[in-house]
Amino acid sequence: MASQNLLLLPGDGIGPEIMLEVKKVIAWFNDKGGMSFETDEGLVGGCAYDAHGQAISDADMAKAMAADAVIFGAVGGPKWDDVSYDVRPEAGLLRLRKDMELFANLRPAICYPALADASSLKKDIIEGLDILIVRELTGGVYFGEPKEIRDLGNGQKRAVDTQVYDTYEIERISRVAFELARTRKNKVTSMEKRNVMKSGVLWNEVVTQTHANGYQDVQLEHMLADAGGMQLVRWPKQFDVIVTDNLFGDMLSDVAAMLTGSLGMLPSASLGAPDETTGKRKALYEPVHGSAPDIAGTGAANPIAMIASFAMALRYSFEQVAAADMLDKAIANALDKGLRTKDIAAEGQATISTAEMGDAILAELDAVSA
Ligand code: NAD
Repeated sequence: MASQNLLLLPGDGIGPEIMLEVKKVIAWFNDKGGMSFETDEGLVGGCAYDAHGQAISDADMAKAMAADAVIFGAVGGPKWDDVSYDVRPEAGLLRLRKDMELFANLRPAICYPALADASSLKKDIIEGLDILIVRELTGGVYFGEPKEIRDLGNGQKRAVDTQVYDTYEIERISRVAFELARTRKNKVTSMEKRNVMKSGVLWNEVVTQTHANGYQDVQLEHMLADAGGMQLVRWPKQFDVIVTDNLFGDMLSDVAAMLTGSLGMLPSASLGAPDETTGKRKALYEPVHGSAPDIAGTGAANPIAMIASFAMALRYSFEQVAAADMLDKAIANALDKGLRTKDIAAEGQATISTAEMGDAILAELDAVSA
């Protein structure tokens, strides 16, 4: 494998603690997995604000733009609660997403067999679950203008958010969904609210057209987003890839996340458009959870979401599917052995630290690669 550049942005709180475990995994793949990753590190979030007065410096932003993939920990914490809005820790993540044009957010919901009992749903409903939510991340109602609270002058105010989508935005996110479905069970469910929203009518139309123009081998179904939410908790295994807009994706991916238990287990990827000459997409990989200031520094953080995010980088940025499968298997095996950080332990079950979980996953990597 040609040398690949990773920019590591550990961030705040438990970010640096879980990033340490990913560094061990990267070193394992360099030493024993036949890979060649070069890593550089930068500051993002509160630590970047402390150092530069910005949530990410221009120099680190330039490194992110040049990297083959960015591996991001988490940002934020009470220390920065009072800093001004435009330099708050989260502004670093938002700038990365915006400048790298990361329009496709991928959130898998996988139920590890060893944790099937930990879900709030019945075991047979979630056992073996493996679905992928593809959420549009840079458009829709979170960004549409006007976005304001107007004073109507009669003692009333009016709040306005604007849901807006152009054809190209829907087309490119549906392409990502169809292409990913081809590597999985070959089925896409598109969710919108065409019964009450014009943006839903266009969404439905463009997804259907994109499907007809080159993806007819993939099974496509349309579902109203509210019905989709219901089906996600009724029988989630009916889904393979779900593609939806920014707002519905935000909610549906959180619902799907909770099917599988702790926040400490959930990885994500955010991808940009393929480069016109190299075909390579800009990409950022991060756990879904935040900086968990309540447990930072105690060694209690679960590093699995962070390590599984690196597995997504192997899969989606470096086309190392076998290596990604191996890393996912190593995580599953560590869980099968009953190893648990505090967040995923049953009552009375023994727990291990962040570093011990990282080491256990490395030991399983040794075993599965032998
Ligand atoms: P959080 O995800 O940080 O924590 C929620 C709960 O889950 C806490 O009890 C925490 O201890 C636990 N938790 C989270 N990750 C865990 C892990 N890996 N292992 C074990 N337990 C884990 O959310 P929050 O408490 O609402 O926010 C804390 C800070 O993180 C805030 O400043 C918030 O703005 C920020 N935040 C950042 C991101 C991000 O960087 N992408 C995302 C969400 C929140």
